[in-house]
Amino acid sequence: MDPTASSFSFSGGAAEWSPGGAPADPQAAFRAKLGDTPPPPPAAPEPPAPAPEEKDKLWTRTMKIANGDRREAKRLLQNPDELLQHDTIWKHMDLEDLKALEASQQASPVVEEPEEDVVEKEEIVEIQEEDPREHLNVVFIGHVDAGKSTLSGNILYLTGYVDKRTIEKFQREAKQRNRESWFLAFIMDTNEEERAKGKTVEVGRAPFETEAKRYTILDAPGHKNYVPHMIGGAAQADVGLLVISARRGEFETGFERGGQTREHAMLCKTLGVRFLIVVINKMDDPTVEWSRERFDECVSKLKPFLKSCGYLVKKEVRFIPISGLTGANVVKEKVVSPEECPWWEDCRKEGFPMSDQKTLLELLDNMKIEGRDAEAPLRVPLLDRYHDRGCMTMGKVEAGRVKKGDKVIIMPTGTETTVEGIFVNDTVPVGSAKPGENVHIKLGNNVAVEDICKGFVMCSRPPCKAVLTFTAQLALVELLEHRPLFTAGYECIMHAHTVESEIICEKILDQVNLKLKPGQKKPTKFPYAKQGAVILCRMTVPRTICLEPYDILQCLGRFTLRDEGKSIGIGKVVSLE
Ligand code: GDP
Repeated sequence: MDPTASSFSFSGGAAEWSPGGAPADPQAAFRAKLGDTPPPPPAAPEPPAPAPEEKDKLWTRTMKIANGDRREAKRLLQNPDELLQHDTIWKHMDLEDLKALEASQQASPVVEEPEEDVVEKEEIVEIQEEDPREHLNVVFIGHVDAGKSTLSGNILYLTGYVDKRTIEKFQREAKQRNRESWFLAFIMDTNEEERAKGKTVEVGRAPFETEAKRYTILDAPGHKNYVPHMIGGAAQADVGLLVISARRGEFETGFERGGQTREHAMLCKTLGVRFLIVVINKMDDPTVEWSRERFDECVSKLKPFLKSCGYLVKKEVRFIPISGLTGANVVKEKVVSPEECPWWEDCRKEGFPMSDQKTLLELLDNMKIEGRDAEAPLRVPLLDRYHDRGCMTMGKVEAGRVKKGDKVIIMPTGTETTVEGIFVNDTVPVGSAKPGENVHIKLGNNVAVEDICKGFVMCSRPPCKAVLTFTAQLALVELLEHRPLFTAGYECIMHAHTVESEIICEKILDQVNLKLKPGQKKPTKFPYAKQGAVILCRMTVPRTICLEPYDILQCLGRFTLRDEGKSIGIGKVVSLE
């Protein structure tokens, strides 16, 4: 967005407003969020109309804040102070955007238009052909400061998605905040709190693409207070990218001394992220200098741990040394030089557990994701909903294919409606979407925003099950010190696909991993279970939620239990009642 703020006005008038049309470039919408748009024409004596894209951007966000109420949105646009109180407006906005908003307000007060004038313009959208390339969601996990945001920012830069001008802008901004080395992280950390603290709070999202595949980066927050956000990100991911800092002291803090590395890796596995790429990052750091010994040390400590999380290390995990900051071993044009790192070529040829590809993106491009079934009944666990001239929902297509015009059922309520529109990369309209795609779906007029909740599942026939009670196999990974026994009546929080619910254990039916002494009979009753136990139990939730047995659809059949902000157990649904 252009900082010549005084020339920028927001009328927010619905009569004038019309969608800017779908950008032909799938990344344009996200670029616009970064403010990476060409500057508008120079200021004329009268404030010129804003560029449609900019106007749309602010209007859409304000409409979301106003829950789709145009009158309220217009009122908010006239009161920037009040508008800025809303968290959503900070998301994807930088300081210059906000200054522009305030200045524009002083320069050109908005004149309220009478409601009768509000005329919806016909939406003219060009439906795009479905892209034959596979889509992958890659969640970046790891301890705070491991370098997740820097790496994701650099990938976006190196794949040409963020230009030099924007990078320079972030460099200047990072310098002003005395966070000079953070400029790449600013690409992903778009909200004010994140930039000020240098911490990722929400799950950042950004699309990028290579010749082989299309990707969405999910940059998960590392800090332990934000684990629930991280769970939301991981629930959508196909591949986990575990970022490990090789810097002396940092690896030890992140992995060995109660850091987030362990919990994140474990959660990823439970949430169904089948493949894990472990990047040993900061190899360029002066305390590392691409040392093979340090790389081997990190790998040898991580391997047994990942195995204990349930990863089939040989099949599902790959390790690769990189520098997210310099880009070395990130893209094929930037393979680390043999002078700097003489051992990578040979190490790679040794094969498992190293990457068989030289660089991270080549590794991702060559990864095969199995189990995506476009012929299965449709299942889209819904992550969010909002009003945008109708009820919009968003989520990832986990199974089946969704087509414009399809009749769908929203579970657990059983509401039937029609798919009025499908959008990928936030704004690009498509005729259909296959498994793996992140979609925004416009629903028929019979459904209002209030009818949809996070955790609902969009289905075709036959719809998924909605249950209150189910039998689960549960591994009690780490119970709380002051609640060391898991018993009937134990209450905690359950996370499964996009749903979060209170849950209570009704009865422990069996302990699967009970070690019996020779001649000892297996007990028939299991009043409690301790940490480390794998049990079969009956669980109940207070309101119906959508689940499927794990053997039928994994993504709807696995869950995590959390208590007092800590993950205590991981489970899979065995049967539904
Ligand atoms: P996050 O919390 O995991 O997202 O970490 P950030 O991306 O915010 O990075 C934390 C700090 O580590 C910043 O000062 C980065 O500049 C620095 N950093 C990140 N990647 C590298 C790297 O590859 N090499 C070096 N030397 N520093 C890095």
